[in-house]
Order: sequence, then C-alpha cells, then structure tokens
Amino acid sequence: MLEMECTCEQKKHTAPIKVTEISENAVEKVAEILKDYKRIYVICDKNTYEVAGRRVEELLKEAGSYSHTCIIDEPALPNLSNVGKALIEAGTDRAVFDINEFSYNPDFVLAVGSGSVNDISRMVSYRIGVEYGVVATAPSMDGYISVVAPLINGNRKIIYTCTSARYIIIDLNICANAPYELLLAGVGDMIGKYVAILDWELSKKVTGEYYCEKVANMVLEATGKCIESATVLSERKIETIKNTIDGLLLSGLGIAYTGSSRPASGTEHMVGQTWEVMDVEKGKTPQLHGIEVGEATFMAMLMYKKLYEDDRCDSWLRELIEKYIPAFDKVLELQKIIKIPFTVTDKEKFVEGIMRGRTFRVRYTLLQYLFDKGMLEEYADSIYDETMKYCFGTTD
Ligand SMILES: [Zn+2]
Ligand SMILES: [Zn+2]
Repeated sequence: MLEMECTCEQKKHTAPIKVTEISENAVEKVAEILKDYKRIYVICDKNTYEVAGRRVEELLKEAGSYSHTCIIDEPALPNLSNVGKALIEAGTDRAVFDINEFSYNPDFVLAVGSGSVNDISRMVSYRIGVEYGVVATAPSMDGYISVVAPLINGNRKIIYTCTSARYIIIDLNICANAPYELLLAGVGDMIGKYVAILDWELSKKVTGEYYCEKVANMVLEATGKCIESATVLSERKIETIKNTIDGLLLSGLGIAYTGSSRPASGTEHMVGQTWEVMDVEKGKTPQLHGIEVGEATFMAMLMYKKLYEDDRCDSWLRELIEKYIPAFDKVLELQKIIKIPFTVTDKEKFVEGIMRGRTFRVRYTLLQYLFDKGMLEEYADSIYDETMKYCFGTTD
C-alpha cells in the first residue's frame, strides 16, 4: 500500500499497490515478486506473448505458480468479446465431471502487455475477485494504476469501474524496444496532463469541485520531466524511457490517490476518446489512445491560448491560463521535434469530437465553460483551422 499525507480534505491518500519493479531485466524477477500466488493466470496478445509472455510462463512454471495463459485474438481490442474470452478461459475444466462443483479459478491475474491487455485483465480480475498485476511491454499509457477500464460495448465505449494493479513490473529493455508508435502514444498521453490539471483548477473555481494541490503538482512535475527527456525519444535511451514511465506511473498514482481520473484526464481525453468512439461507431479500429489524446491536447492548448486573448474570457481565468502558457508552449515546441501523428484531419469529425466530447463524461472542463458562454460552437469551428495550420503548416 502506498500512502501520502496531505493537507487537502482527504488528509491521506492511499493506493493499493504492493510492488513496483522498474528495471532493465524486470521480467526475470516475476516469479519472485509473485511468490505469494500459486495459480497465476496470464493474459496477453500474440505480440506481447512473443515479447515477454513466453518467458513469464517459463519462469512461473519453474516456480510452480503457473496456471495457464489466454492469448487475446487479433485485433486485441478492449471489447466485451475479448473480456468474455478471457473470463471463460479463466476457469479450468476441473469441475466438468462433478455437477456439484464450480470451475476452478486462478488466484491471480497477470496482464502481459499494455493498453488493451491491461484493460481486459483488470476487468477479469475485478469480476472473478482476485488481485491482478501487469508486466508492461510498452510505455504507451498511464492506465496501469487506473481505477477504471474503458471497454468497447457494441458501438459504444463505456467506462467500467474496476480495481487497480497491485503489482507493476516494468522491464526497461522491453519497453525501450517497443514499436515507436507506442512510445509516441505514451508521450501523447502525458502531454495532456497540463490541460487536465488546468481544467481541474477551472472546475474548482466554477463548481467548487474537490481539488488536491499536492496531487496536481505531483502530476505536473512528472509531466515536465517526461517532456524534457522526450526530445530525444527516437534514440530510445533507457533514461528517456524511464522518465516517460515515471511520468505515466505518477499520473496513474494521482488517479489512484484521488479515486478519480480527474488529475489525468480533462478536455483532451474527452475529445480524444470521442474521436475513438466515432471510429468504433463506424466499425473502424481506433487510433492508439495516447495518439488520440496527443492530438486533442494540441487542440485544447490552442483553444486555451485563444481564450486567453479573447475579451470574453473572465479575468480570473486569464490569470489561471497564464500560469500554464509556458508549459503549453514547451509542448507545442516538442511536437515540432517528435511529431506525434495527427490523424483527425476531417473537419466534420474534428468539430463533432469537440461538441460531443463536452458530455463524454460528467466532468466540468474548458468545453463546458465555453458552452455556458455560448462560445463552444464558434471555437470548435475556428480551432480546426488553427490546429491544422499548427500541425501541418508551421511545423514543417
Ligand atoms: Zn491531497
Ligand atoms: Zn490516457
């Protein structure tokens, strides 16, 4: 259990994490770290099985703590059919010949992967009532310690309440060799934190929502560190990868500490996730979460900067935005170097993501502020041109 004393109304923040192992050959320690469990159920996809799953299996078998493995079908999307598969395969057929017995469940769920595999495993662990841990194969998102699983249900994406990982095992060598797009996605998920925390401060002022300065500062500091080292992301240095991972973990810790994704998700997540949902609705495979969030972050930062210059902006909000402008500018500069792909170029989709994003979840953000002032539609329309100009006009 991690703990942090605080001066906010929660007084003490806790997270149910037992072990965090971040090192160059962390996978080799998996059996030792999970020595308290006897029937470990491994969930992975085809790629993560090759990258780490097979080795994890070997080590758990040697230690006598292995149960079995589920390999999620391709494409390994976090949808209900994949959760269903992993749930069905969680049990063994030991009870088949005895009608008085139930299927024999594992005593631990181990996700080997990131993103989808982690979301699926978290749901399975929550439903069968055993703890779970993750062997991360890419620094692509901050959901390792998250308390929810966003899952595709039909043509919708629904955020299900879950539990968070008790064990986090991150092998730096494996992460450093992850596909470059996954590294970019991790940075994309991190740069959004500036917008998320500014939104949180905005909501505190307008709605009186609970706000914790210590958690907010912890996430902002981690974001700063991640951005500084991200300029050399393509070199895949262990130190850079570690800074990205630290950032993602601290941001996840902020979620666990407050019991809400508020410190890690605001306008940029609501718009990015709406774009994801719009793809799902059309039966398309959505972009990586961190890539969508990265795209929406540029939009949201440009939107805040536009509002800063606007006479209709309340003076208290202008003061608030001013604090964040240096950080926004750093992120906008960073994009010139690392170039997170910009995929939402269709104006209709872009604008609809903003308009629908406002109510993606119940959360007061910049979008609601603009909506209440009758300015959202105008801003959604004009920020498209500015974002495109920024991403395709001035960066090249
Ligand atoms: Zn606090
Ligand atoms: Zn995220």
